[in-house]
Amino acid sequence: MRDRPVEQRIQDFAEIDNGFSPEEAMAEADRCLQCKRPLCVTGCPVNIEIPAFLTEVAAGNFKRAVAIIKEQNILPAIAGRVCPQESQCEGLCLLGKKGKPVAVGALERFVADYERAHGTTPPQKKAATGRSVAVVGAGPAGLTAAAELARAGHAVTLFESLHEAGGVLMYGIPAFRLPKEIVSAEINAVLALGVGLKLNHLVGRSVSREELLAYDAVFIGTGAGLPYLMGLPGEHLPGVYSANEFLTRVNLMRADKFPVFDTPVKRGSRVVVAGGGNVAMDAARVALRLGGKVTLVYRRREEDLPARAAETARAREEGIEFLMCANPVRIIGDQVMTGVECVRMEMCALDASGRPEPAPVEGSTFTIDADLFIEAIGQGPNPLLISEMPELKRGRRGNLEVSPEGKTTLRHVYAGGDVATGAATVILAMGTAKKAAHAIDRMLKGE
Ligand SMILES: Cc1cc2nc3c(=O)[nH]c(=O)nc-3n(C[C@H](O)[C@H](O)[C@H](O)COP(=O)(O)OP(=O)(O)OC[C@H]3O[C@@H](n4cnc5c(N)ncnc54)[C@H](O)[C@@H]3O)c2cc1C
Repeated sequence: MRDRPVEQRIQDFAEIDNGFSPEEAMAEADRCLQCKRPLCVTGCPVNIEIPAFLTEVAAGNFKRAVAIIKEQNILPAIAGRVCPQESQCEGLCLLGKKGKPVAVGALERFVADYERAHGTTPPQKKAATGRSVAVVGAGPAGLTAAAELARAGHAVTLFESLHEAGGVLMYGIPAFRLPKEIVSAEINAVLALGVGLKLNHLVGRSVSREELLAYDAVFIGTGAGLPYLMGLPGEHLPGVYSANEFLTRVNLMRADKFPVFDTPVKRGSRVVVAGGGNVAMDAARVALRLGGKVTLVYRRREEDLPARAAETARAREEGIEFLMCANPVRIIGDQVMTGVECVRMEMCALDASGRPEPAPVEGSTFTIDADLFIEAIGQGPNPLLISEMPELKRGRRGNLEVSPEGKTTLRHVYAGGDVATGAATVILAMGTAKKAAHAIDRMLKGE
C-alpha cells in the first residue's frame, strides 16, 4: 500500500495510505502457501479462517471473502487497519521467514472496504430467545459482545456513557489511521442486528446497579480510559494534558475545527510528549498536525518502543523528533508552562519482563522549551462502575478478575476487553468479548 506524501498528509486528518486495488489484492492473496496447519489462524485472537478468505480474494470473490472474515470478526475494516498483524497472523506467516509475509491486514481492510462500497449483506441471526443482556461500554469489546449475543437471538441493550459509540476507536485513534466514517459504518452493522444502543448513559450513575442486574446477564466492557499521570511538579499548569484528554478533544469533539465545534484545545508551538506506545505516537502526530514542533521523550531505548513499528516509522517520517533514554521530571512555568525539565536515563538491571530497568543519571538534567506537554504513560480501568459492585474481584492494577471465559466473581456478570486484560489491543478486546458472549449464551440456554 502507498502512503500519501508526507508534506501533504501532515496538513490534514485524512487517511494516510491508499488501500490495494482489486488486481493488487488478488495478486497479494495469491502468494498464500495455503499451509496445511496455518499458523496465521492460531496467531489471530479471533481465529479468522485466513487461508480460506485469501483463496476467495485470489479468485476475485471479495464478498465471499469478507463473509468468511465476518464469521469471526464483525469489525473487519477496523481490525484490518489497526491490528498489530506483524506480531500476530503476519508474524507467523511462513513466507515471512525468508521474505515478506502475506499482507493479511491490508487484504482484510480491502475486502471490508469493497463490501462497504458495493453493498453489504444483512447478517444472519437466530430466533428470539426471550432473554435479555445488558452490555456496558460500546468500544470494540462491547460491540463484539453485543453482536455475538444479538446473533444468538438475545435482546441486547448496549449502554454507552459518551454521545457516540466506538470507545477508543472514536475518541482515541486519530482519523488519519482510522477514518471515523468507517467506524460508524461498522457500528451500524452491529446495530442492524437489533442491538438497542443507549448513548449518554453512564452505568453506575444514570443507570443504577439494580437496573443493570435486572437483565438476565451483564457484559462489562468499560475499557481502560483512566489515564495515569506522572505526578510531576508543575503538572497543574495550563498546557499540560493527558493524551486521553488531548486526543478526545480533537478526535471526538473536533477541537481542530474550533470554533466551528465548541471544544477548544491548546495548539502548542513546541510540544513535548512523554511515552513510547501507540497512544504517545498518536498524540505526537495529532499535535504535529495542529502546527506544533514535537519532541517525543521516552525513558527507554529505541528498540524498546512499544508502539507499532510501522507507526513509529511514519511518525519519524512526518518530522517528530525522538529523544530516547530521557524522562521528564518537572514542568517549568509560573502562570503558564514554558518548558519541560528532563533527566537522562541509563539502562541498569533487568526488570521482571527481562527488559533493562531505566534509572536517572545523576546531574544530567536539561530543559526543552515547550508550551504544551502531553503525558501518554499508560491508562487503567475507570473505577466508577466497578466500585458500585464490591463483589467484583479486582487485580492489582484495578482490572476485573475474570475466568478464561470471562466470568467475573458476580453471578451472571461477565467482562472482557481492556477492563479485564488491562490496556491491550482492539483484537484482543474483541477476542475476550467473544469468549464471554459465547459463555453468556451457554449460560442463558442452561447448558
Ligand atoms: C490512542 C490509542 C491508540 C491505540 N492504538 C491501537 C492500535 O493501533 N491498535 C490496537 O489494536 N489497539 C490500539 N489501542 C488500544 C485499543 O484501542 C484498546 O485496547 C481497545 O479499544 C479496548 O477496547 P474496549 O472495548 O475494552 O475499551 P474502549 O475502547 O475503551 O471502550 C470502552 C467504552 O466503555 C465506555 N464506558 C466506560 N465506562 C462506562 C460506564 N460506566 N457506563 C457506560 N459506558 C462506559 C467508554 O466511554 C468507552 O466507549 C489504542 C489505544 C489508544 C488509547
